[in-house]
Amino acid sequence: MHKIFVTQPALPPIDEFSEYLKQIWESKILTNNGPFHQQFEKELAGYLGVKYISLFSNGTMALITALQALKIKGEVITTPFSFVATTHSLWWNNIKPVFVDIEPVHYNIDPKKIEAAITPHTTAIMPVHVYGNPCNVEAIQKIAEKYGLKVVYDAAHAFAVKINDKSLLNYGDLSVMSFHATKVFNTIEGGAIVCHDESTKRRIDYLKNFGFADELTIIAPGINAKMNEIQSAYGILQLKYVNSYISKRMEITDYYRKLLCNIPGINYVQDMSDITHNFAYFPIFIDSEVYGKTRDEVYETLKRHNIFGRRYFYPLISQLSAYSGIPSAKPGNLPVATRASEQVICLPIYPDLSMSDVSRVCKILQI
Ligand SMILES: *Cc1c(COP(=O)(O)O)cnc(C)c1O
Repeated sequence: MHKIFVTQPALPPIDEFSEYLKQIWESKILTNNGPFHQQFEKELAGYLGVKYISLFSNGTMALITALQALKIKGEVITTPFSFVATTHSLWWNNIKPVFVDIEPVHYNIDPKKIEAAITPHTTAIMPVHVYGNPCNVEAIQKIAEKYGLKVVYDAAHAFAVKINDKSLLNYGDLSVMSFHATKVFNTIEGGAIVCHDESTKRRIDYLKNFGFADELTIIAPGINAKMNEIQSAYGILQLKYVNSYISKRMEITDYYRKLLCNIPGINYVQDMSDITHNFAYFPIFIDSEVYGKTRDEVYETLKRHNIFGRRYFYPLISQLSAYSGIPSAKPGNLPVATRASEQVICLPIYPDLSMSDVSRVCKILQI
């Protein structure tokens, strides 16, 4: 049986891409806010329904720069149930992460537990819209306003997600996206910051280009995190196809749910009301006492059948040696996240995954 991986990138048609490449070869403009970069920023902002976007070389550089742009320091409250880059971006800014537990329905940071973690050193909250399911943005906003904190969303999973038909990316001070090959929308590598006013966009754009405001003015020690023209052109093409990618993901999600709904001990996340989802991931949570097998046994069984799920997110970020010494990283402080990370497997999902492959995966889970 052929191998099925957790994801496989969707690529635009190569003949359309080669037309763009010819233009780039002719213009010899390869990077530094070239015409495709400008066009992609504009079209992407329009597609997503946001005001300002700054493109980046990848999501991690965008996270690091977002914190720089807002001059965030001291302590930042965040979730341990995410990809490592969320907390790494704090570490690279010399910021102390403070881990707060997640809620057990959508696995996002639990707003009810945030206030207890605030200290005089707290400057911001960095939540993650895990699996593309929105955080409780209203509750987080209220806390931020009450304590004068910034909110930087790691929205790496949340491409095109909407609340009541409005972009989720409009919440918080900044939202950071990733366009890595494994994400719903990819530019091979890539990322972006969404902000809400022109002067913030200008500062972000300077910071991602060494701090240059003009030939002679360097506003701060910036970094090099620019997206190039080839990836920008690829991104423009991807935008034409991303709706079809998302609707294929939705069909696959529906089929998984249908095939798995009667298996005791296998749980999955339901759609939320008023939300337009992107079906970025299909995580299942194995309750081993009910199901009769542990998560790792299921993971290994799938592997023996050439199906390669991923344990997103295990281990918790708080369990990595770099962070495990922090008081808030203790498993006793994070019971919901600890349990989720011990139960989760993300099953394969990508636009070209066939329905027969989905049923092949589910047959193994039915044993
Ligand atoms: C993918 C991802 C990132 C990092 O994005 P890159 O573009 O790979 O640097 C950050 N946070 C989360 C939650 C992610 O899933």
